[in-house]
Amino acid sequence: MLEELTVRTARREEMIDITSLVRAAVRRSGIEQGMVYVYCPHTTAGITIQENADPDVRTDLLTHLARLMPQDAGFRHSEGNADAHIKSSLVGVSHALPLDRGNLTLGTWQAVFFCEFDGPRTRRVLVKVVAG
Ligand code: ZN
Repeated sequence: MLEELTVRTARREEMIDITSLVRAAVRRSGIEQGMVYVYCPHTTAGITIQENADPDVRTDLLTHLARLMPQDAGFRHSEGNADAHIKSSLVGVSHALPLDRGNLTLGTWQAVFFCEFDGPRTRRVLVKVVAG
């Protein structure tokens, strides 16, 4: 089962909690035991698992990534989004989560986030549920 989700971002950089979208895709699959792969087929975005309780965690993450990789740091890439490509590589574009009795086995404070580094755009996220 492979499902494609659409995520619309509103800012150049933001983290969007997509946990409920992933859970819904898992439910639709009808699979209760196995692995869930969440994959973003973009070079200037990413997928991460991070705290969803305190929004300052997201702000800190984006702020400090921007300090590491300022947009105007003199990169060679001519599109002007080299910082977004590097952030995508650092964060990564996929995660795998064990699926147990239909649940995503996330920790209490964990959520699955889509990370936008060069928005706003309409993005794709693929969710693959594998029984096992
Ligand atoms: Zn580029």
